[in-house]
Formats: sequence, C-alpha cells, structure tokens
Amino acid sequence: MSSDSPYQWFDDFVGVAYRYYDLRMNLVPLFHDFKKARIFWIDTIKWWNDHSIKIRFVETGDTYWFIMGAESRMVKNNRFLFKVLPKSSHYDRFKKGQEGTAYLRLGSYSTKFKKDVKADAKCNCGHIKEDHEEGKDDDSCLFEECDCKKFETFQINMLKKKKTVTDIKFLTETEIKDDVLAWNCFSVNKYAEKK
Ligand SMILES: [Zn+2]
Ligand SMILES: [Zn+2]
Repeated sequence: MSSDSPYQWFDDFVGVAYRYYDLRMNLVPLFHDFKKARIFWIDTIKWWNDHSIKIRFVETGDTYWFIMGAESRMVKNNRFLFKVLPKSSHYDRFKKGQEGTAYLRLGSYSTKFKKDVKADAKCNCGHIKEDHEEGKDDDSCLFEECDCKKFETFQINMLKKKKTVTDIKFLTETEIKDDVLAWNCFSVNKYAEKK
C-alpha cells in the first residue's frame, strides 16, 4: 500500500459479473469463495453510504479498469476495489444497458465438473451435461462438430444483500485527471509502478 494514497486499494478478487434482473443491471465483484465475499461485505461494503458509491470504468485497449469506492461509516475498514479485466460481451451489455445505475452485490465464482451438476447444466462448450459421454474417465461432448473433451462449467453464487449505485462513469485514460477516484487509482496502481 502506498502511504501517500488516502485509500486502501484492494484487488484480491477474481473479476466482475454483470447480470440483468430485478429490473436493473447487477454488478457483482466475484471472490474465490463465498465466505470471503460475505466477510468483505460485512467488513467493508455494509458501511458504505449508497449515494456515495462511485464506479469508474477506464478502457485501455482490450482491457478495462474496474474501479469502485465510497465513503464509509467505518473508515478504518474502508477499502476501494480495482481490477484490470479483459473486455467481454457481458461488459459491453452492461455498458449499453446500465443507464447510470446498478445494483451492487458480491458473489463467488467456482468451476464445476460433470459430477457436480445436474443433467441440464450447460458446459462451457455450449452443450448440456446429457450431451457429454457418461463414462467416468471420458466426458467428451457428443456433438460431432464440438471438440470439447471435458465437461466444465462455472457457477456464480450471489449474496442476497445489495446496494444501489447511481454514480457510474465510463472514462478514457485522458479523462481520468478530472476524476478524483480514477486518478488516484491510476496514480497508485499504474503510474507509480512505472517509476
Ligand atoms: Zn462440453
Ligand atoms: Zn460441446
């Protein structure tokens, strides 16, 4: 942690999921396990004032920076999140659909294999479990045109608790100098490292 930053920057999470339901886009930072997500909520996010939560997206080529922070009623536990992530179709959909507001939740991301899921679970290849070999040592996809050799899927579990975010901005790197949060994040986590 840099001592000249007023914020504690946190990037020990997997990524961000974007889901549309509850009539609003949901933005879900994902942790390695559910317990970590729950603890982070209790320690940090719970104390955030909803109206002060800021989310910034800064696109840099094929990747983007996710940056999030807020004023806290428990200052000593406050942490701001950032992560450099590859652009994805989910991200694009969120960008188009968010209209400046989203629900913030936390969740966990885990990989599941054939033995872990129901018959209609969808593999990353796009075909369901039933369409894969049943054998113990072989779970190749049965679709001829598909070269998937192993059933694998991911599961996202979300905490029920949520907060409403109404301050979301998409910025270019040249615009961040006018944004306190994004500027601080880049200063500490990008520009400082280059020195
Ligand atoms: Zn498959
Ligand atoms: Zn397949």
